[in-house]
Amino acid sequence: MKIMKFGGTSVGKPERMHQVSQLITKNSEPTIVVLSALSGTTNSLVGISDALAKLDKQGAISIIDTLEKHYRSFILDLLQSEELRAKANAIIDEHFEFLKITQRISLSDALNKDILAQGELMSTKLFSLYLEQEKIEHALIPALEFMRLDANEEPDLMVIREKLNLILAAHPTKKLFITQGYICRNAKGEVDNLKRGGSDYTASLIAAAVKASVCEIWTDIDGMHNNDPRVVDKTIAIEQLSFDEAAELAYFGAKILHPTCIWPAQQENIPVKLLNTMEPSAAGTVIKKEAGTVGVKAVAAKDGIIAVKIKSSRMLLAYGFLRKIFEVFEKYKTPIDMITTSEVAVSVTIDSDLHLAEIVAELSNIASVEIDKEQTIVTIVGNEIAQTASVLKKLFDAIDEVPVTMVSYGGSSHNISLLLPSTYKTKTLQLINRGLFNL
Ligand code: ASP
Ligand code: MG
Repeated sequence: MKIMKFGGTSVGKPERMHQVSQLITKNSEPTIVVLSALSGTTNSLVGISDALAKLDKQGAISIIDTLEKHYRSFILDLLQSEELRAKANAIIDEHFEFLKITQRISLSDALNKDILAQGELMSTKLFSLYLEQEKIEHALIPALEFMRLDANEEPDLMVIREKLNLILAAHPTKKLFITQGYICRNAKGEVDNLKRGGSDYTASLIAAAVKASVCEIWTDIDGMHNNDPRVVDKTIAIEQLSFDEAAELAYFGAKILHPTCIWPAQQENIPVKLLNTMEPSAAGTVIKKEAGTVGVKAVAAKDGIIAVKIKSSRMLLAYGFLRKIFEVFEKYKTPIDMITTSEVAVSVTIDSDLHLAEIVAELSNIASVEIDKEQTIVTIVGNEIAQTASVLKKLFDAIDEVPVTMVSYGGSSHNISLLLPSTYKTKTLQLINRGLFNL
């Protein structure tokens, strides 16, 4: 079994759906296709919920109307026969009637999740009609019947595996399955989702559930690049990454892949390929157990970082001090990204200020605390870079003029992270592109 996931832009136009249909019928291996909502739809659905939350009915209605017009004209290009267009219009009727009804009920968390689910439900149903038109045998399998969260709001891989295998077994002659990315049910059985950009996660979870041969993520760029193309002039696609390297890059800013999507594939050792719908023959990036070549592979940056600098002379020769600090962050469910220590001080970074005030208040009982906001983590990823001769020298020569505030090195053999004021991000990425990648 093979998994192929297509993002919003890959299904965002009728001609793209045509391309997708060609890509998914090329191979003879049984395939599960995971689709996002048409590009822009989830943003509009978020807009509808936001308007409803502000009791701005007019605002919500106007977004709903614009979106509905988009779908009505989309299907005219997608489908040729009156019969299929009528079926498509009935699908659009059903989902937009639901969106219009939401105006008359008060917005709850559960209703909000239901609103957000409409995009993937529509994209897959319309794509299924397109496959019907092209006489491509397939089965549409509803993600809401097998994608499950547990009581901790984490995907429940055991349940997903059990339910999905039952559904697949019910279609013994089918070789092509279509399902929704992003949406799922929670432990209470309500409609929920895997958070924005979560379709990649769906694909990886399904791949792990059925122990697929490969999990292909199709987007509109030719793989993961060595640097941010919006910031530097020249970037190159990376051929191969290990799961750990990819997770590091995805978490620290590479937008192409959702960071959570690595672990399910890694757990079952399933290669993840990042491929380009516009250029299907390009090699893309493969993510697997082995890292491939040794050396520096990529740099990524994550903004919105807050540095918490904790200093206490009581830390001198004391044990248990770090534990006390970590307990404060744990209590407020705030993950720490980077950490550096000296004998009397610890600096950590966090990416959310949700509980910052409480954290600072508690830490102040045991130490003096300073906060630096608007920081950026620049992380350099590669295979065995900690052991690669002169990487550190080259790096610091290249960024000589940047006021680096924290350095984390040696925590793993594939990563060096720097903290710097966000105003220096662009400059730093450009200097590293020249100094470490010779681009
Ligand atoms: N449609 C959802 C979003 O835009 C999920 C996804 O595309 O991955 O966030
Ligand atoms: Mg996406």
